[in-house]
Order: sequence, then structure tokens, then C-alpha cells
Amino acid sequence: MRLSRVFGKTLREAPTEAENKSHQLLVRAGMIAQEAAGVYSYLPLGWRVLRKIENIIRDEMDKAGGQEVMLPVLQPFELWQQSGRDVSFGRSLFTLTDRKEHTLALGPTHEEVVADLARRHVQSYRDLPLMPYQIQTKLRDEPRPRGGLLRVREFIMKDLYSLDADEAGLHESYQKMCRAYKNIYARLSLPALMIEADSGAIGGKDSHEFMVLTEDGEDEVICCSNCDYAANAEKAQFVKTGGNAESLLPLEEIATPETKTIEEVAGFVGVPSSQTLKAVFYFSDGELVFVVIRGDLEVNETKLRNALNCSELRLATEAEVNGAGLVAGFASPIGVKGVKVVADDSITLGSNFVVGANKPGFHFKNANYPRDFQVARTTDIALAQAGDSCPKCQGKLRSSRGIEVGHVFKLGTFISERFGASFLDNDGKSRPIVMGSYGIGLGRLLAAIVEQSHDDKGIIWPPCVAPYQVYFCPLSLDKSAIASTAENIYRELEEEGIEVLFDDRDDSAGVKFNDADLLGIPLRLTLSPRTLQSRSVEAKWRAGKETRLLPLDNLAAQVNRFLNEAAKAQH
Ligand SMILES: [Zn+2]
Repeated sequence: MRLSRVFGKTLREAPTEAENKSHQLLVRAGMIAQEAAGVYSYLPLGWRVLRKIENIIRDEMDKAGGQEVMLPVLQPFELWQQSGRDVSFGRSLFTLTDRKEHTLALGPTHEEVVADLARRHVQSYRDLPLMPYQIQTKLRDEPRPRGGLLRVREFIMKDLYSLDADEAGLHESYQKMCRAYKNIYARLSLPALMIEADSGAIGGKDSHEFMVLTEDGEDEVICCSNCDYAANAEKAQFVKTGGNAESLLPLEEIATPETKTIEEVAGFVGVPSSQTLKAVFYFSDGELVFVVIRGDLEVNETKLRNALNCSELRLATEAEVNGAGLVAGFASPIGVKGVKVVADDSITLGSNFVVGANKPGFHFKNANYPRDFQVARTTDIALAQAGDSCPKCQGKLRSSRGIEVGHVFKLGTFISERFGASFLDNDGKSRPIVMGSYGIGLGRLLAAIVEQSHDDKGIIWPPCVAPYQVYFCPLSLDKSAIASTAENIYRELEEEGIEVLFDDRDDSAGVKFNDADLLGIPLRLTLSPRTLQSRSVEAKWRAGKETRLLPLDNLAAQVNRFLNEAAKAQH
């Protein structure tokens, strides 16, 4: 390909809104272009990378027993009502109304369609297991699209669904997919970590994410510094420690003027913050919820959302809290009426807590659960943080940032039961199909590769996904000897089947080398008046510093050997 003909120009500056490296570099390299918030075009160079990632994924899915299908983007809304996930997806589900006033959903995922197909095409246990998959555009109305390809509203995803006869079969399919995912990341040179994850709107019980740890990651990952425990912060458990075990003292109201925060109250009363109770207020699907948690801990909103089984959750405003007859800043679970109270189980660790008195400027001392107040539910809704104790080995937990590059779910039977997607077992008894769901976002993978593999000059593509293998860079193209030799070399490389990007622009060496580095193509070949004199070209790997001269005689064969050796060295 001649660079002068490529659709998409390199830019000297990144767009101001580009926050992370992959966004900046991919836009500057002319590989992607934003069309709307969270909506991108792939230009030819970016698309070539995406197609190579796609082929690696397809290869691993086929090897693992997957069968490729193509399912519709337009889905009857009734399918979503039937699974109940119209509620759990909430406003993330794009919908539209057709000319006959039918509501349709734009698929964010395809469990419903697969369950619908399964109920028509699976009759007996002999039909199972099955692993249909597709690579297709998905749509999700993300509330806050940002970060280039990391959080988008339209994206290309590989989604595979496992259909099994029982839990053991599901477990086997799940293991197969996890192995296939690990192969994909290894082939892409991505060090992905498998961690415990929350199922979120997808639903189901067991779920893992694959994370690439990087500073600009969207997710927080909690890892043990001592064992292999690793989980998304949304899901992470920890051992709650602290809390005294004194004998219960009588409840006492005390004046605590000018104290608003937990630290101020604890300091004023002279107790550690772990001996205070914090009140936090949320609106859960339109209902005010009073959350009580020990003062030294923070609320984990994902755990709270799961405990409340709600789709919309947000912090309540001070006005809303006061409107419910509570005093923001001094609210108390003691004597509260008409508001649902949910507590973290940390309130059972410790005694004689300091808690608001629901009166401006006053708190209670020696509040004890359940002696002094009742709650609708106590469960773990606390956020694990760096320094907390590991739930497996009590070692110290660490916190890192990561990009999610894959997510797998053991769905179980909740969708197939609702759909009547069942089969006849060995004994002729009807049983629901056991489902699993396995996703990889291709654009995210592409962005994660760039986040992992770049320097201050540009992208450094691993050869297996690079848009071209060779950046052929003749200098002084205005000289006819250079121009004609360059054309010959270009033709020779193409004829050898080498993917070559020919920088045929009559620009300075500086401009050309900068673009070569920005585009990140593995091998740069430079032809200059000096190298021509010695009948050679200069070869340089994007990832390295050394250069060497390759003689012009039989150049294409030498380049091919060079590329093959590098590909072998990578694996
Ligand atoms: Zn541990």
C-alpha cells in the first residue's frame, strides 16, 4: 500500500479530549476517528489491526469447539421482557419503535436470542453441548462514554454462549473458554490476569474478568500481595477486622457541635472511626434507602445494588434526606420510621458505637445493634481497599488499575427457565439448559495492546496484529535513481507477499521517521542515497535501536526470513 493513498492522515497533536494513551495515539495515527460520544470509525490502518485480532479470536473459538453464527442486531423487545433483563439493563438498552409501533431492542448482548433459538433447536441431551458464537457490532447506551475505545456505545464483540445439560458440563465449557481466552492474550502479547468479577446486568452466579493492569485502566483491581486472590473492586471481599468487644453500655445522647464528618465526630468523642456508624443515603429505583456502615469503611455501590436487586442506584441529595424527616449529617437508624434501612455486616463487629441522634448537633454514644435499632438486612456491602486483609490468606491487599479485556459468566438456568429452553435428559425428564456467556470486546483489546505497547513516539504493534509488517521509507524521492529503485523494491516486496506500507511521499526524513514511529509498524526499511551507493537498505525494528544493512540483491527473501525469525522469537 502506498502511504500517500491511505485514507486517514497522521496528526501532530492529539485531540484535547483524548485522556489516555491509546486514544491519543490511535487518533493521531489516523487509525480511528470519533463520530459521536462513544462512537468511532475505524480507518483502513486501524481496521487491518482489528481484522487481525478478529482472526486470532475466531481461530481460538473454532479450536475450542465454537460454531460461528450471525445473530440479529434488531431483537424483539418481548425477548428482553421475557428474561426480565429489560429491567436490569435499564437505560443501557437502546430501543426503537418501528413503523408498526413495535418496540425493538438493539442488541447489547445475545443471551435472549440464543435461548430463543435453543428452545426451538435443542430437544434432547444428545444435542448438547453447543457453543455458538459470533463477532458482531453491539450497542449499549453507556452513561459516560470516554477513553477512546475503552468505554463506547457501539463496539464489536465476540460473544460465545455455552449450552450444557448440567453444571458439570457448564464447568467444562467454562474451563475450555478460559483456556481459549488465555491463548488469545498470549498470542496478542497481552499479560491478562483472570480475576473474580461481578455479574452486573448480565446476571448469573460465577463470573470472571480478564484484566490488563495499566495506569489508565477504567477498573480498580484488588490483588493479594501474598496469594493468587484477585478481584474487581466491585466484587472484592476482605476480612473485616477491628471493633471492640466491650460489654454493652446504656445509650446516651451527647452534644457534638460543629461535627459533620466521621473523623470530626470520632475525634470529638475520642473513639476510633471504627467505633462510629456512618449513614449514607441512596435512591434505589425511586425509593430512599438508609445505609448504615461502620465509620472506617466505605459503601461498595455494586454490592449494594446487588443486595437491593435494583437497576437505578444513586446517592440521595441532602434535600431528599431532610425531606424524609431525617437530619443530614446527624441522621440516625435509631427511631427511624418509614425508610428502608440496610446495613453492612460490619455493624455486628464491635459495640458501643457513636451514631447520629437525628438532631442537629447531637449524636448517641453506646449504640448497639440489634438492641437499639433494627435493619431490613445486614450483608456485605463494604468496599475492599488497599491495605485490607485478603479473604483467602489474610495477606495484605493491593489496588491497581486495569482494562477489562474479557468477561465470562456462568449464567446457569435463569434465562433458559424463563424461556422454556429445555431438553429431555437420559430418563426422558425435561430439564432447563445450563447456559454460560463469554465476551471479548475487540476494540478494547486493540486499545489495551496500545496501552501496553507504546513509547513517547508512538505505537509499537506486536507483529501478529500490525497493520503492515514493513514500513518502506525511501528518502530523497526527488532523485530519479532513488525513485526507480524504490519502485522496484516495493514491487519485489509485494510480490513476495510481504505486507508493506510504502512511504511514497516526497517529505523530509524527519517527517517520515516520525510517522513510521507513530504508526508502529514492526520493521522499517530505509533507502537513502547513502545506502543506495552501497547497494543496500537500512533495516530497523520499531521496538529496538540497532540498525543493520540488508543488501539489495534478493532483498525480499531476506526480509521475509527476518520477519519469520522475529515472529518465532515472539513465541
Ligand atoms: Zn491472599
